[in-house]
Amino acid sequence: MAERVTICEVAPRDGLQIARGRMPTAVKSRWIAAMAAAGLPQIEVGSFVSPKLIPQMADTGEIVRAAVLLPGVTIVALAPNLRGAEAAMAAGAQRISVPISVTMGHSRANLNRTPAEQTAEIGRMVAFLRGQTRRVELEVALSTAFGCSFDGVVAVDEVVRVAEGVAAAGADAISLADTVGYGHPADIRAKVRAVRAAIGPVMQGLHLHDTMGLGLANALAGLEEGVRKFDSALAGLGGCPFAPGASGNIVTEDLVFLLESQGFATGVDLAKLIAARAILTEGLPDEVLHGQVPRAGIPKTFRPAA
Ligand code: ZN
Repeated sequence: MAERVTICEVAPRDGLQIARGRMPTAVKSRWIAAMAAAGLPQIEVGSFVSPKLIPQMADTGEIVRAAVLLPGVTIVALAPNLRGAEAAMAAGAQRISVPISVTMGHSRANLNRTPAEQTAEIGRMVAFLRGQTRRVELEVALSTAFGCSFDGVVAVDEVVRVAEGVAAAGADAISLADTVGYGHPADIRAKVRAVRAAIGPVMQGLHLHDTMGLGLANALAGLEEGVRKFDSALAGLGGCPFAPGASGNIVTEDLVFLLESQGFATGVDLAKLIAARAILTEGLPDEVLHGQVPRAGIPKTFRPAA
């Protein structure tokens, strides 16, 4: 049996938040259903933020309520604070992701809070979720862990310090996010190792952007360090509206090709996944789609991990 890697598809959240157009809700629901049918185990379908800040996310409640009816997929919603977590729970989200910035510059721009204030907010979110009858895990993403367009270089110790605070606040899982895509394989290795040494198995995921063309190299470095959970976006959509210079996430289609070729089972049917790009284009006709495997076609040599 092949070892399993979990992919969380983030295009409906990380991708659409920066899209020029606004995807109609009905098309978005159909697109999410197609990606779930392709076998993606987790889909982050939106964020519970102010629609004044990110109008593309105004329909997140409706999207979550429809998506949780899909079989075989865990529906994730981003919540930046307690109020967002309450809304996510009310809509039926099955997992909640929350960002915290490692750097002060991005923290103020993205959350209008210091990292210490956000750590305290995460503690309140944990307390709220533990008081619910329905068990929902909280995954905390450490934004700008590999560099920041405001504050520049991010030291290993800074990442470890924030991770320790978040783990102490009760997070179920922590992922390291290369929000602006400045990371490189040696940096990935060093920080994954250091954070795992500090907090153990709560360190789980990587969220990578392909700004410098190193996205898949970084994923492979993480894989070799034992990471078994990756965020990625169909067609490489994505970026942070509050992090200048950020470009798209690593491409899910290409990541599946990499992982399956290396003998790691993702559960994803690559041809079905590529077919879901057509619905994305239907909903956002002006969006540029990325991805090497979809462009070249799945080669005859491809053998999914069994
Ligand atoms: Zn991102």
